[in-house]
Amino acid sequence: MPDRFKSLDPDNWRDFRATAHRMLDAALDRMQGAGDGRVWTPLPPDAKARLTAPVPVDGQGADAVADQIAALLPFGVGNTHPRFFGWVHGAGTPGAVLPAVAAAAMNANLGGRDHGGIYVERQVLDWCRALMGFPADSGGLIVSGTSMATIIALKAARDRRTDFASRRDGVGGLRLVGYASAQAHSCNARAFDMLGLGSDALRAIPCNDAFEMDLDALRASIAADRAAGLTPFAVIGTAGAVNMGAIDDLDGIADICAEQGMWFHVDGAIGAAGRLSDRLRPRLSGFDRADSLAFDFHKWLHVAYDAGCVLVRDEGALRRAFSDRPDYLAQNERGLAAGGFWPVDYGPELSRGFRALKIWAHFLEHGTDALGAAIDRNCDQAQYLAARIAREPALELLAPVPLQIVCFRYGEDDALNDAIVVALQESGVAAPSTTKINGKLAIRVNLTNHRTRASDLDLLVDEVLRLGESLTRD
Ligand SMILES: *Cc1c(COP(=O)(O)O)cnc(C)c1O
Repeated sequence: MPDRFKSLDPDNWRDFRATAHRMLDAALDRMQGAGDGRVWTPLPPDAKARLTAPVPVDGQGADAVADQIAALLPFGVGNTHPRFFGWVHGAGTPGAVLPAVAAAAMNANLGGRDHGGIYVERQVLDWCRALMGFPADSGGLIVSGTSMATIIALKAARDRRTDFASRRDGVGGLRLVGYASAQAHSCNARAFDMLGLGSDALRAIPCNDAFEMDLDALRASIAADRAAGLTPFAVIGTAGAVNMGAIDDLDGIADICAEQGMWFHVDGAIGAAGRLSDRLRPRLSGFDRADSLAFDFHKWLHVAYDAGCVLVRDEGALRRAFSDRPDYLAQNERGLAAGGFWPVDYGPELSRGFRALKIWAHFLEHGTDALGAAIDRNCDQAQYLAARIAREPALELLAPVPLQIVCFRYGEDDALNDAIVVALQESGVAAPSTTKINGKLAIRVNLTNHRTRASDLDLLVDEVLRLGESLTRD
């Protein structure tokens, strides 16, 4: 029989190396020029059309593919640009290419077993415990982001409430209910949905004038649910609410949870990063009382997408909510199937990539001081922008600025403000987004961007004023 062996490796390694180096240079060129040119560039129609071709039967080779990958480089969301102010996106760093290259080369599966990657993830989790005020023996996992972290944390909360019977029996007749502020992120209600509790079982508690959860309203809602025969089991405090950055009274929520025997979860997608800042840390004091915390590395800490973390104080609760080993995943004392920490026991995924590597490399490269300083700078910039808005008679600040988000508008008209934001995005000059504050459409400027300078904010305001005037005239 003729040897028809043909692996998927390159036929010519020298050519492949040249292609790979070319790709790396194209990526670095893009990163070095992150502040040049337009913020957002929509994908051109011809490029969209090329992306409707059928699955290739014959491969084109790495060299041809490198060109096609490189051609996509200008068409990101725009969040690497200093004037990207939309939603809550991290800006990334050039250092991200190093672990990306190494992770591709290792192709490690972080579901478990005894290998280098597992020890890296363990160290990253130890760092997170220390930074976030969780004990050394708490449970945790690196995940895709806060949405996944929330599902995992609330599953542990749900299952502990039923002494883990809900894993087998489901939650059919249980009527578990939880609470979050009306400003809480939609991923919390989605977690309730996915956990079979139903999104209505997450009560939206009204907020005070500072958009923080009203704790009297929380108490009243818990009492009303108990009186109706429901089972309150968790309260979600938000550290950095997505609309305007409010930080709930976490210590106050922790008190209520302790008194009511409820699980205290913190959504720290944005605010947890503030634990790296000496200025913000005192405002995030309730973290050390939380049963669980969900947060992101890819937002205010600028690790490349996607990267988040869940921490659960009661390691056993997290493990018992997920661990379920079949025979083919049995653990050994020695050999490849050894190792004390198998991530598969702490979350829903078996096969997992080496996300921990980019987080680990990022912390090693920059250190917590520089990351915290970038956060402080964004908070200062938010105050600078708010002060400029206050000086402009045509502009109105719509919410307090407790953190790094500024919500304002030009004049009174919702449609006009929407048009200003679309025009800004399409012009390529800046990319804020919009939200509603007390029913009014706001131009929303989120500053989680280590590349932004004060001059970028002045340019933004100048453009809003110019567009507001010219769109009103039209
Ligand atoms: C972004 C965000 C989330 C969701 O996090 P992902 O990482 O996008 O899944 C949850 N809560 C808040 C406050 C957020 O800003």
